[in-house]
Amino acid sequence: MAETITTRLLILGGGPGGYAAAIRAGQLGIDTVLVEADRLGGTCLIRGCIPSKALIHVASKFEGMVEAAQGAKDGISLSSPPVLDMARTVAWKESVVDKLNGGVVALLKRAKTRVVAGWGTFSDAKTCHVETDDGPVTIKAETVILAAGSVATALPHIPFGGDVISSTEALALEKAPRRLAVIGAGYIGLELGSAFRKFGCEVTVVEALDRILPQYDEALTKPVKAWLQKSGVGVHLSAKATAWTNGELSVDKNGERLGIPADKLLVTVGRRARIEGWGLENMGVEMAGAFVKVNGRMQTSMSGVYAIGDLAGEPMLEHKAIAQAHVAVEVIAGQNRTFDPAAIAAVCFTEPEIVSAGLSPDEAAAAGHDPLSAVFPLQANGRALSMGTGDGGGFARVVARKADHRVVGLQAVGAHVSELSGEFAMSIEMGARLEDLAGTIHVHPTLSEAVHEAALRALGHPVHI
Ligand code: FAD
Repeated sequence: MAETITTRLLILGGGPGGYAAAIRAGQLGIDTVLVEADRLGGTCLIRGCIPSKALIHVASKFEGMVEAAQGAKDGISLSSPPVLDMARTVAWKESVVDKLNGGVVALLKRAKTRVVAGWGTFSDAKTCHVETDDGPVTIKAETVILAAGSVATALPHIPFGGDVISSTEALALEKAPRRLAVIGAGYIGLELGSAFRKFGCEVTVVEALDRILPQYDEALTKPVKAWLQKSGVGVHLSAKATAWTNGELSVDKNGERLGIPADKLLVTVGRRARIEGWGLENMGVEMAGAFVKVNGRMQTSMSGVYAIGDLAGEPMLEHKAIAQAHVAVEVIAGQNRTFDPAAIAAVCFTEPEIVSAGLSPDEAAAAGHDPLSAVFPLQANGRALSMGTGDGGGFARVVARKADHRVVGLQAVGAHVSELSGEFAMSIEMGARLEDLAGTIHVHPTLSEAVHEAALRALGHPVHI
């Protein structure tokens, strides 16, 4: 006989949105059931952010050793080239994932969340049926949070399967392909493509648009473009992948046909909200395009049903999912909360890294801010030089309103600049002015001094330039 559970809160999905909601609910004493078909941690932890950054880390280490074997400038040399055991690299990456997955399991236990393992299907807005290993379970809830996440978008004419892989399979390859073709020069394609290049693969990227990383402005992507070129990554822009036949990718570039032979074809043309296969159509919930429609309190059009994370719209980022989880649960607990961030920082872990929060100079101008912006090159930053990363064309940039010096955007490109994202988001969230950034003493020698110097430069009195 089917077991029936009644609960105050049901969460569908145990990714960052879902598990963070469950933890917050536990803290607020809300009786919670979480349904997850896979391992806890979701896309981000199991097959996204964490495994990709683990692989990128090893790839950079390997590249450094290859350089050392060729006689690196910093005095380190290796008598023979390093050897990559991809199966062990993937096993190490899995050990990192396992550790974090175990952490989520423990946190949910502490939060007293009841986890029901299996695929959930809603028959109406408040009733979910789950096929578990121990038999069917029906969950009836007063309130529901939908956190079903997203899936990789497939190309209809080049479907996934065999050697045509998504980021999920790319992160689990036991052998690095000799030749890798990548469709899509967004952040996932370029992060993984660059990592495989560092592992020694021949990498070719095909992009339908006329530029890489279109969410960032040209100045920010220029150093990435330069690295791809220097490293021998083939990049075909304004190029449409038309077919994959017998290990060759056919591409239409301005009417000309190119053939790109490859051992694996990685398709990273975007991700879409997971809106099918779990009864969303039975819930009476309105859509906003391809996402579930929500208001600032993360409420859907159906009373008592909330949606968060990738399912609820762009940007599809882990930290946004967690922030929305907190808003949803606190609203359920009766608090007056709204999801209304001043900025959601985003990082692209390419070579070099890009970090951006708020508006670029062009976006600020388009928004009518009459912006004042200034950059500080990492070439003049002691920390970047001491790490051997000052010559990659990197910089930090501040964008402020001319009228009152309020900071509306902060960006940087360069090795390790992802770590500036906290300062960027906080400055904008707290309404910092150029004088606040300039008046804050930044530690020497760190990359954050470049942000300080950019603010000083915007005010007309930089120190090191
Ligand atoms: P998800 O993490 O997708 O979790 C949804 C969960 O719901 C899944 O575990 C799924 O199994 C479960 N589920 C869905 N439907 C059902 C059902 N019917 N029954 C049971 N369970 C169900 N973001 C960043 O911020 N930084 C990064 O560096 C970054 N790198 C990325 C790299 C890659 C390769 C990829 C693919 C993504 C990356 N992302 C990154 C995006 C990030 O992973 C997502 O934004 C984040 O995971 C969204 O969280 P979520 O909780 O909304 O959904």
